[in-house]
Amino acid sequence: MKHDHITMKIGNKRNLIELLMASGPRTRASLSRESGLAPSAVTRLIRELMEDGIISVIQFEEKSEPGRKGEVLSLSEKPIAAIFDIGVTKTSLGVAFLNGKVDSVSCFNTPETPQDFFRLAKEKVNIMRTVYDFQMVSFSVPGIVNCEKKEIVLAPNLGWYNVKVDELFNGSFDILADNEANLSMLAEARYAKDLTDVSNAVFVIVREGVGTGVMIAGKVTRGNSFSVGEFGHMVVSIDSEQSCHCGNKGCWELYASIRWANQRYGLLNGNNHIDKFEELLSMAKLGDERAKSILENHAYNVAVGITNIVNGLNPEFVIVGGSLSSAPDWYFTRVNEVVKSRALKMATRDLKIRPTIFTEPSSNLVGAAVYAIERYLDRVINTDH
Ligand SMILES: [Zn+2]
Repeated sequence: MKHDHITMKIGNKRNLIELLMASGPRTRASLSRESGLAPSAVTRLIRELMEDGIISVIQFEEKSEPGRKGEVLSLSEKPIAAIFDIGVTKTSLGVAFLNGKVDSVSCFNTPETPQDFFRLAKEKVNIMRTVYDFQMVSFSVPGIVNCEKKEIVLAPNLGWYNVKVDELFNGSFDILADNEANLSMLAEARYAKDLTDVSNAVFVIVREGVGTGVMIAGKVTRGNSFSVGEFGHMVVSIDSEQSCHCGNKGCWELYASIRWANQRYGLLNGNNHIDKFEELLSMAKLGDERAKSILENHAYNVAVGITNIVNGLNPEFVIVGGSLSSAPDWYFTRVNEVVKSRALKMATRDLKIRPTIFTEPSSNLVGAAVYAIERYLDRVINTDH
């Protein structure tokens, strides 16, 4: 009986937090009405959540009639994690707050070796700790991550293999790490209004490589050995002799990454593929016919892979991000047309394909924050008073 009571209490606290996350600051009266919990239960649960520092009073509601003004409650603006979006050439970092706020801090060139990277990351974290009080560090990684062991199993575009992040940080922080597309899917599911009631969706990240985050039945799926979503390495050209760094040939990534488009164009300004692709996008927006034509072909290549994913997984939404976050509308129109014309009709009946809602900070960084918030809440709420 005791166990049931605790489980129910944790569930009720979680419901109140979900209401505050989804609909913004609320009074106790609104929380009671919307959750269906008795006002006395809400008062008791909120008191405990306030004692844990999870919820704070941010203001008093405006009331025209006389009477006691209700306190408006919100998740606390409490720093909980340093967050890193590890890119192949550039890494950005920020601070995640419990109420969902993300402060971008800075950006640096990604060192080549994991040892150099994590040494630098640790220095940055130690500096941030002098300003913000947090215990967690959350990494978005462009590769396969064993998030239980905090191990980067394979990040081919970085050339990193079997990197034990926990060991490189010497256990001084609570470390979280996950694949960037999984995290982007988490971020989009948490904040995009049109995904509120959606259970099945795929997030496609197109940068130097191509990765996807897969949400099935409301959960981001990671698989038996954390490689769910490696659709970048699905073969789309059976006779291709072009080799992929994964060891296979004819992978989708070879045709749908930004490298493909950049190489087609030739000379572009920029020190890395991301900057060069930005240049390509702006030239197309300014009316450069060759840039437009290459992007149209790129949209086709992206759409072919999405067609396969849609046929196999039947998501309601495909969200496209990474370097395509700022692609022009016609790019997405083209992707939509190709997928609708080539995929199974039943799989595209309710399908929507759109760019991510995130630009700055990136979906990867916001996802690293969401992951940390979830972990923090689970730990604090599950520790019963
Ligand atoms: Zn491959």
